[in-house]
Amino acid sequence: VRTALRGIGTTIFSEMTALAQRTGAVNLGQGFPDTDGPAGMLAAAQAAIVGGLNQYPPVDGLPALKEAIVQARLARYGLAYDPATEVVTTAGATEAVAAALLALCEPGDEVVLFEPYYDSYLANVAMAGATHRAVPLRPTDDGFAFDPDDLRRAVTGRTRMIVLNSPHNPTGKVFSRAELELIAQVCVERDLIAVTDEVYEYLTYDGLEHVPLAGLPGMRERTVTISSAGKTFSCTGWKIGWALGPAELVGAVRKAKQFMTFASGTPFQAAVAHALTHELDWVAELTKSLQERRDLLRSGLTAAGVRTYPAQGTYFLQADAASWGYADGAALCRDLAEQGGVVAIPTQVFYDDPASGQGLVRFAFCKRPEVLSDAVSRLSTFR
Ligand code: PMP
Ligand code: GLN
Repeated sequence: VRTALRGIGTTIFSEMTALAQRTGAVNLGQGFPDTDGPAGMLAAAQAAIVGGLNQYPPVDGLPALKEAIVQARLARYGLAYDPATEVVTTAGATEAVAAALLALCEPGDEVVLFEPYYDSYLANVAMAGATHRAVPLRPTDDGFAFDPDDLRRAVTGRTRMIVLNSPHNPTGKVFSRAELELIAQVCVERDLIAVTDEVYEYLTYDGLEHVPLAGLPGMRERTVTISSAGKTFSCTGWKIGWALGPAELVGAVRKAKQFMTFASGTPFQAAVAHALTHELDWVAELTKSLQERRDLLRSGLTAAGVRTYPAQGTYFLQADAASWGYADGAALCRDLAEQGGVVAIPTQVFYDDPASGQGLVRFAFCKRPEVLSDAVSRLSTFR
């Protein structure tokens, strides 16, 4: 049969988690924690279910959740939004990004993505009938960096928006204030919309600060800010996300979202409202512990002679496949799963041309220390 989206295959995350299950390998592929979120949040979800919060919430989300999202944003970044018109909750950040692209792009529009990019963006651009231009992030000893000229060149007369993900999956990069100022300048000069994916906003290390693009001059009125509870509160299966922005842009996102899921996850919305209000100390501890686990993985790999790149935030660390004698990260990932007992993600799947990311593999460090130690010893002996 003839189907749409012919160029799009199975997401790498399902593929690699299935491989981990089949081989029994340690799964450092798909990014999800192996411990639960704060006990108070779990209890709040149970209380919501038993208390009868089991029917449709409003399309925008439970008022308590919208209020908690807005308050958390204001307290952390000093950015104010009207819960009545400037926030919509979604089925994870995934739905928010999809709804933003479908609502704000028309066929023929161009979208600028930093490459490597999170895989759903490309599928969403295709669903919107738009096309994309990639701005490469290149690995250096100080982390991943882009050339400002590449960004300027990527913007054409047809560009509608820039999608920015910081902290960045899959590189672990946290965009600096100077880099964000440059992106903001391009958005303002060329009158572009920015869609920011900030799902790792709380997960930055070594004292690095997450700077929301919407807070830079000229950006609030043109930015849709997206985040979610999955990474912040270790509940990736709950799929509670949100989008914030000026009423006109968020209204368009809501319009798309109402015919995607309409609404979802009522009791989990209530629990996330509780978490945003009462569990941010827990998140600070999570961030500290993730930094330690990043160090455990990175120093273990370094000791084994593996070259890795700085992970300033997120769950993810990039390493060179060449350290194991492989030119191709996909071949390394296959052999690692089958013979080495560890699953990783070949970074090349996040590029237009796989050759550009062929030498890199991504490891997730959002796992218990004993799991990471086990993985390090397997990775150290694999040759
Ligand atoms: N964006 C990025 C960059 C991600 O890494 C992920 C995975 N958590 C998502 C979006 C999806 O978030 P959610 O699970 O809230 O849909
Ligand atoms: N964000 C997760 C990752 O990058 C995967 C989420 C998913 O499986 N869709 O590993």
